[in-house]
Amino acid sequence: MSNDPSRQFDVLFEAVPIGPVTSKNRFYQTPHGNGCGFRDPSAMIEMRRVKAAGGWGVVCTEQTEIHPSSDMSPFIEMRAWGPEDRPVLGKVVEAIHEHGALAAIELSHSGLNTANLSTRLEPLGPAHLPVTTEDLEPIQARAMTLRDIRHLRQWQRRAALDARDVGFDLVYVYAGLFLSLPHQFLSRRYNTRSDEYGGSLANRARLLCELVEETKAAVGDRCAVPVRITLDEHLGPDMDTLEELFDVIGRLPDLFDVVIGGMNSGSGSARFEQDDHGRNEAILRRVKACTPAPVVSVGFVRSPPEMARLIRDGVVDFIGAARPSIADPFLPRKIESGRSSEIRPCIACNICVASDYSSAPVRCTQNPTFSEEWRRGWHPEEVPRRHAEMTLAVVGAGPAGMECARVLGRRGYDVRLYEASTELGGRVAKEALLPGLQRWIAVRDYRAAEFARLGNVEVRRASRVSAESLLTEPSANGRPRHIVIATGARWRRDGVGRHRDRPLTVGAGARILTPDDLPVVSPLLGRVLIYDDDHYYLGSVLAEVLARTAASVTYVTPVAEVAAWTHRTMEQRETQRRLLDLGVHIVPHRILSRVDAGGAELQCIFTGRISEMDQDSVVLVTARLPEDALAAELDRERDRWSDAGVHGVTVIGDARAPGQIVHAVFSGHAMARTFPDHDGALDHFERREMTP
Ligand code: ADP
Ligand code: SF4
Repeated sequence: MSNDPSRQFDVLFEAVPIGPVTSKNRFYQTPHGNGCGFRDPSAMIEMRRVKAAGGWGVVCTEQTEIHPSSDMSPFIEMRAWGPEDRPVLGKVVEAIHEHGALAAIELSHSGLNTANLSTRLEPLGPAHLPVTTEDLEPIQARAMTLRDIRHLRQWQRRAALDARDVGFDLVYVYAGLFLSLPHQFLSRRYNTRSDEYGGSLANRARLLCELVEETKAAVGDRCAVPVRITLDEHLGPDMDTLEELFDVIGRLPDLFDVVIGGMNSGSGSARFEQDDHGRNEAILRRVKACTPAPVVSVGFVRSPPEMARLIRDGVVDFIGAARPSIADPFLPRKIESGRSSEIRPCIACNICVASDYSSAPVRCTQNPTFSEEWRRGWHPEEVPRRHAEMTLAVVGAGPAGMECARVLGRRGYDVRLYEASTELGGRVAKEALLPGLQRWIAVRDYRAAEFARLGNVEVRRASRVSAESLLTEPSANGRPRHIVIATGARWRRDGVGRHRDRPLTVGAGARILTPDDLPVVSPLLGRVLIYDDDHYYLGSVLAEVLARTAASVTYVTPVAEVAAWTHRTMEQRETQRRLLDLGVHIVPHRILSRVDAGGAELQCIFTGRISEMDQDSVVLVTARLPEDALAAELDRERDRWSDAGVHGVTVIGDARAPGQIVHAVFSGHAMARTFPDHDGALDHFERREMTP
C-alpha cells in the first residue's frame, strides 16, 4: 500500500482480467432494472452510456429475457428473444464502449417467476408449481421435460451468440434470488424432480453447470461468462452450504457476482437496514477461498477508504454497485479525480425499486436526471450555462428549494435562498430524526455542501419572508429578478384523503394531531389512534415511535395492510412485522368517520357498519395541502412587481403539488434547469420513444 494519501485509492483503479477480457478498473455496475428496457430503449441506452462516462469499468444490463417463455411483463426488462432484438442490444454495447467500459449482459430465464402475461406461453419450472410472482397470478408453471431443458440450453446458447456478435464482453448465466430457472433448479424447495436434474446437489446444479459450460463453449473465446448467484445458507434449510455448492460450480465461471441473502439484503431500505457488513464479509471470504474466479458483490459502496480496504484485504475483486450508481453515475470519476466529497450518496429509500416495480422509468430521490438522460437531455453533472447575469430568490430550503438553488447556482446565477427555520432541509430535517430514516439527511447535506463549493448561493437562515419583504428588498443587495416559491405543504387536519372526500365529523374536545405536530411528548397523548390513509411510510413510522412511549397505539387503515404502498419499496412485510412486535393493534378495512373526546367511530369499507373505539388522541396521516399563502400574496401584489424589478414567480415542490421527496427534488431541478424557458410547470416533454 502506498503511504502517499493521494495514491491510496490507486488499488481501485487497477485493471483486472475477467476470463478473456480486462476491466480498466474495479468499479462494477451490477445488473439493475430501470423500468425502460425494451419499451424505452433510447432512455435505457443513454442511461447506460452516462454510467460508462461516469467511470464504471463494467456496466451491466438488467435481466434480459432469452425467450418469450420468460416474458417478465408487467416488468419492463430487456429482451434477447431473437435476431429482431440485436439492433437494440448492439446500441447498448456501443454506448457502453464509447467510454471504455466493458459491456455485460445478464441473460436470464425467469422460469417459475413469470406468468407470461404478454406472450401467453406456459410458464416453465422445475416442477408443477404456482408461479411465484408477487401479484399472485392464478397460473402454474409446468414441470419441464428433458426436451424443455434441451430447449432452454439452446435458447441460452443462441442468446449468448447474439450477445457476442453485437459486441458484449461479459455474458451472464443468471442464478440469483430464485428469479431464474438455474436457481429454481438448485433449490430443494422448488426442485422435487426424481430425474437427473433433481435430488442430489450434483443433479440440482446440473442445469446451471450445463448452461455455464455451454455458454463458455459458445462465446468463451471472446467473452467472459459470469454467474450471478444468491448465497446464504441462512435463507433456510433448502440452501446447500456455500462450500458444498462451490465444490460443484466453483471452477466453472469467469466471475462470481454474489448476492448475499434475499432481495432485501442487496437492496434493503435504510429503514430496515441491518449492519450485516461483518457477516457479508465473512461469506465473501469463504467464496474467495473456494474459487479462483474474481468476485463482485453489492452493498460494498461505503467510503472510498473502506472500498480500498476491501480490495486490499481480498474480500472482493470489484466494488459492485447498483443503487449507488443510480444516485451518482459519476462515483468512480469523482474518486479518481480526488472529488470524493462531491459524491451524491444513495439514501436507500428504494424509490428506484418502486419505479421498477411500477413498470415506470426508474426515478431516484437523489438523482433527478436518472432516466431523463435521453428523454429530457439531462446530464447528471452538466447543466446549461445561465442565460443572463441575474439574481434569483428561492424561498424555502426543503428538498425542492435546495435542489433548485443548487442547480441555479451551478448554472452561474446568483441565488439567495431564504429559510424560515434556523435549519436547512425542510421536511427531510424533521423526518430524518425518525427511526430508520437517518440516512435521508443526505438529501440536505449533499446540497448544503454544494452551496459551500459553489460560493454564489447565499443561504439566509431564520429568514421568514413575505411578499412585502421580497418586493422591498433594498436594491443595494441586488434585487431578485425571479422568485421561486418552495414553501412546502402541511398535513390535512380534516381526514380528507383517498377514502374520504369530505371532512370527518369532529366533536367538541377531540384531540386531533397530524405529523406536523410531532414529535410531541407522547405519554401525554394517552391511547393513540393513528389513521393512515396515506399508505406510505409516515403513518407506520409514527406508530413505531408512539408505540415505544404512548399508553397504547391502534393503527387504523381503510386497506388490508399497514403501509400498503411499501410493497413497492420492499418494506411492507418488515413494517407490519415491526408494528406487530411492538404491540400495535392493527385495524384494517376501516374508514375513520367521526372523532370525539375519548372516542372514535370507524366504518367498515365492505358493510358500512359502524364500530366504536376508545382513544385519547387521533393522529391523521391522510393527505397534504400546499403552503401557498406566500405565492397567493405575491400574486395579489402583481401590480408592484415591475417597480420592484421582479419579472416572474414560480412555485415548485410541495407548495405546487404535494408529493414525496423524489417529486420535490425533481420539481426543483426541472425549474432550475429549464429557467427561463419554462415556468417550472412540468407540462412539456422533450422526447418519447416512437414505435413504428
Ligand atoms: P419541499 O418538499 O417542497 O421542498 P418542505 O416542506 O420540505 O418542502 O420545505 C419547505 C421549506 O420552506 C421549510 O423548510 C419551511 O420552513 C420553508 N418556508 C415556508 N414558508 C417560508 C417563508 N415564508 N419564508 C422562508 N421559508 C419558508
Ligand atoms: Fe438510492 Fe433512493 Fe436513489 Fe434508489 S432512489 S438510488 S435508493 S437514493
